[in-house]
Amino acid sequence: MSEQFDSSYDVVVIGGGASGLSCAVQAAKDGLTCALLEKEEHTGGSSAFAEGHAAFESDEQIKRGITVTKTQAFDTYLDYSHWRADPTIVSRFVANAATTIVKMRDEEGAVYEDVTVTAVDQPGELVTWHLPEGEVAHLIELLEADARHRGVDIFLSTTATSVLQDATGKVVGVAARDADGEQVRLGAKAVVIGTGGYAGNPELIDKYTRYDHLGGKLINVGGPGNTGDGLGMVLAAGGTEHPSIGTLLLFPIMRDKTITSHTNAAGFQPYFWVNAHGRRFTDEVIGLNFGNAGDVTAGLPGSMFWSVFDTATIRHLVEDGNEVGLGIYVRNGEKLVNLPTEIEADAADETRTNVVSADTVEELAVKMGVDPTVLRAEVDAYNAACAAGEDTRFHKPAKFLLPVTTPPFYGVKMETGIMITMGAIRIDDHMRCLDKAGAPIPGLYSVGCDAGGLFGESYSLPIPGSANGFALTSGWLTADDIAERIEAGVL
Ligand SMILES: Cc1cc2nc3c(=O)[nH]c(=O)nc-3n(C[C@H](O)[C@H](O)[C@H](O)COP(=O)(O)OP(=O)(O)OC[C@H]3O[C@@H](n4cnc5c(N)ncnc54)[C@H](O)[C@@H]3O)c2cc1C
Repeated sequence: MSEQFDSSYDVVVIGGGASGLSCAVQAAKDGLTCALLEKEEHTGGSSAFAEGHAAFESDEQIKRGITVTKTQAFDTYLDYSHWRADPTIVSRFVANAATTIVKMRDEEGAVYEDVTVTAVDQPGELVTWHLPEGEVAHLIELLEADARHRGVDIFLSTTATSVLQDATGKVVGVAARDADGEQVRLGAKAVVIGTGGYAGNPELIDKYTRYDHLGGKLINVGGPGNTGDGLGMVLAAGGTEHPSIGTLLLFPIMRDKTITSHTNAAGFQPYFWVNAHGRRFTDEVIGLNFGNAGDVTAGLPGSMFWSVFDTATIRHLVEDGNEVGLGIYVRNGEKLVNLPTEIEADAADETRTNVVSADTVEELAVKMGVDPTVLRAEVDAYNAACAAGEDTRFHKPAKFLLPVTTPPFYGVKMETGIMITMGAIRIDDHMRCLDKAGAPIPGLYSVGCDAGGLFGESYSLPIPGSANGFALTSGWLTADDIAERIEAGVL
């Protein structure tokens, strides 16, 4: 061991989410010595909230008769991103994602229960969402156990602070603060940055996105550790930002509610939404793609809207089920049986200002803080569209035209939630971080949500499971690349 370091490894992985753990396990399988640093007390990051991951032409798809092809996936990523995604990175992911399924199942013990979509009515959505038993949280448990079993040193409550380089810029290790607050220096031939993006860092959100002071308003439902540390370390080491930096996965959500709440689920159904001024602003069918709905919400005054519905709609949601779910937290078509009790309690709760109810539209408007004449006119126009079965203003499909006619009426305030950021660090298709000249920084890699290239300006929800699929796949691909370069004597 060099005197310069407290200990040395072939590879040090920063971040214990899906990407970091996938990388660490594969590094050990490839015969490399490996340490993984995780700043929280446990592994998991945002990955622990994910339900499933994308793959293309996997054996799990084929045995279920699902015919999604790699070509369809490649074309969808590029079309959806207006070719702002990097075709070389898309290609590498699309080619290898099915192998991730085999690795997770045959080598780690995962069981895939289903392959499905997130919203049945979302046009063009590909059937790519592979749902493992126990969701991705269980994959994390399996990977962590295997990493430990294979001798990976996992340091929890340990925050990496910088990447160490020699005079030529080659990576030689990592500086970190350990669980006792002591500075440690770990030597490494390669360092992998998998810190999960910066969804929990309002300043970086404001720096990299075009929205007006959005950072402080966002409701972060992802991992608390995702504060952009990896991006900062890579920039300090001479790396660069991918042009798609600022891409966020946003979605409408109520403040002070969990994602399993039925009042919240009623709020994002594609019925009748008005902005802070009481005006309808969109075809609510965007609610079927929660990422698009989140982008629209973020750009509204106050980054919020009111979802307004009546008692007949509540009955419909209880008896017939919803139009769109939220992952596995509220399933597609689920009957919102808790809704009547939950929303009554919410409306009666004087400390809560984001659910209101009233017997007239005008009274409701006052409680929502909008002009009653404006809301009355918007409701009348919408109800007329419902009666005609045709929405000539926003062209919403007739099946989602449910009128607001049966009192009591309800208003649910939906704000902007964030799950993850994507697309921060510029990498090549071997996940190597690139400098300003586009050359790889020797020994420096980035994976998962920290890495840019799979997305353009928004998340590709028509390919469900992309973020976690890329995290798992970029992790093991990176370990293999490092092993090959060490073997070849170039790292
Ligand atoms: C509610 C929710 C549901 C989701 N559902 C899905 C889904 O079904 N399918 C899908 O594809 N995606 C989904 N996602 C997104 C998906 O979870 C992530 O995009 C992906 O798994 C991220 O993996 P990662 O390894 O890049 O980051 P993470 O899993 O966030 O891991 C990063 C880790 O790095 C740690 N870290 C940060 N800084 C440091 C530091 N300085 N030193 C040491 N450690 C550090 C963090 O604490 C964290 O544990 C969902 C996200 C949320 C929030």
